[in-house]
Amino acid sequence: MPRVLIGEFSHETNTFSRVPTDVEHFRQRLALEGAAMADMAGTNTEIGGFYARAKANGFDLVPTVAASAGPGGVVTEAAYAAFGRRIVEDARAAGPFDGVLLALHGAMVTEGDDDGEGRVLRDLRAVIGTSVPVIVTLDLHANVSDRMARLADGLISYRTYPHIDMADRGAEAADLLSRTLTGKVRPVTAVARRALLEGADHGRTGVDGPMVPLLARARAMEAHEAGVLSVSINGGFGDADIHDAGPSVTVVGDGPGPRWQALADDLMDEVWQRRDEFSVVYLTPAEAVARARGASAPGRPAVIADYADNPGGGAYGDATNLLAAMLDARLENAVFACLRDPGAVAAMHQAGAGATLTLDLGGKTDASRGGGPLRLAGTVVRVSDGAFRYEGPMYTGARGAMGPSAVFRVGGIDILATTYNLQVLDQQMLKSQGIVPAERAIIAVKSMHHFRGAFAPIAASILVADCGGLTSPDRSRMTYRKLRRPIYPLDSAESCT
Ligand SMILES: [Zn+2]
Repeated sequence: MPRVLIGEFSHETNTFSRVPTDVEHFRQRLALEGAAMADMAGTNTEIGGFYARAKANGFDLVPTVAASAGPGGVVTEAAYAAFGRRIVEDARAAGPFDGVLLALHGAMVTEGDDDGEGRVLRDLRAVIGTSVPVIVTLDLHANVSDRMARLADGLISYRTYPHIDMADRGAEAADLLSRTLTGKVRPVTAVARRALLEGADHGRTGVDGPMVPLLARARAMEAHEAGVLSVSINGGFGDADIHDAGPSVTVVGDGPGPRWQALADDLMDEVWQRRDEFSVVYLTPAEAVARARGASAPGRPAVIADYADNPGGGAYGDATNLLAAMLDARLENAVFACLRDPGAVAAMHQAGAGATLTLDLGGKTDASRGGGPLRLAGTVVRVSDGAFRYEGPMYTGARGAMGPSAVFRVGGIDILATTYNLQVLDQQMLKSQGIVPAERAIIAVKSMHHFRGAFAPIAASILVADCGGLTSPDRSRMTYRKLRRPIYPLDSAESCT
């Protein structure tokens, strides 16, 4: 029975964030060790996919660590030691292994190395050597380095955004490892990039954008090109000032040879050609609120995405410009979720449900990124510990934690304030706090695109607002120093070809 080491060390690092990602941020979201990882069996996660295919492949799984933090600033050396080094040390202590399955996001930047995943793989190879096959799953927003492609035998990224195929990709990785261990295939990964920071519509699926034809071509390559084992299109993560940021294509082929690189380059050429095709229109907060008004129907709210303050992209989750526009418009039966403000939550917990309070809410991390604190008088509707379980298409069945939370009602708007910083991508985040989304007229969510998985089915309309937060699509506000140049769209297309 093949012994297979499994682990996860996932982070999407926004190098422009002033909040470093430390051990505690991982513990807030996911930090399971050893046998406790079996808690993820049956969930729509990559680890869930590893477990799902263990029996069929006859694997003896050896769980190490499953650690994931919400996107944020650079990962500290302490966090790298606690989770990345831990996987390596477990491999040393519990080895030898026949194979390794790792869930690595692909856009991690650590204090000691801009290529966090390449670092994990380098440290792991130093222990297990070069002959043990390592298959890695990545987020579709990975910034893939040459080192990652060289040190992993196979790189397999999500094919959906919202990411609803995590378990499927975990299962695909497990099956590829099994075929490798039985000598049926010898996976090799090639990666192609261009001078491109933004592209492939940021990887959006479920909308009528360029990912539709790009993914169709990837599937056709897998079906018709001999020896092609898996093809991934990565939207990349542009809020990272590192050399390799941006979209990429990876092709996993059977055995060494130049053909995988040629196929990856071919598909990447199409990503380049479609570089200006995007499916989203950005509105100002006032425009979004004006359009949302009257755009709902019974049982079907209008949903506004607070795109530029997306915790899922490393933004602070406490920007207030969109909330201010909603208050100015005196909306009724509206919800704003979530606003990260541990201090305000603590004050509300102390006052208790039913209390009336005046709070300086939100905007405390960096007022220049989406608005400063709002002084608001309102009523505490509910306080809770913020625990919930995902019911939507992402992370289905997994546990979620918002930390101590409270609902604060100001006029006709219920504001969900949380202690942790997290993207709203599941209706349970609201339902667990007594808010039934389908009964509301307008719901504002801090999210770019993931919210669509759970909220598009009930939304009468969807509007996307740029409040000027840290993940604003306006890149001119950022100063890149390490990024390779020239690169589009920061530099002209002519200079990039
Ligand atoms: Zn992603």
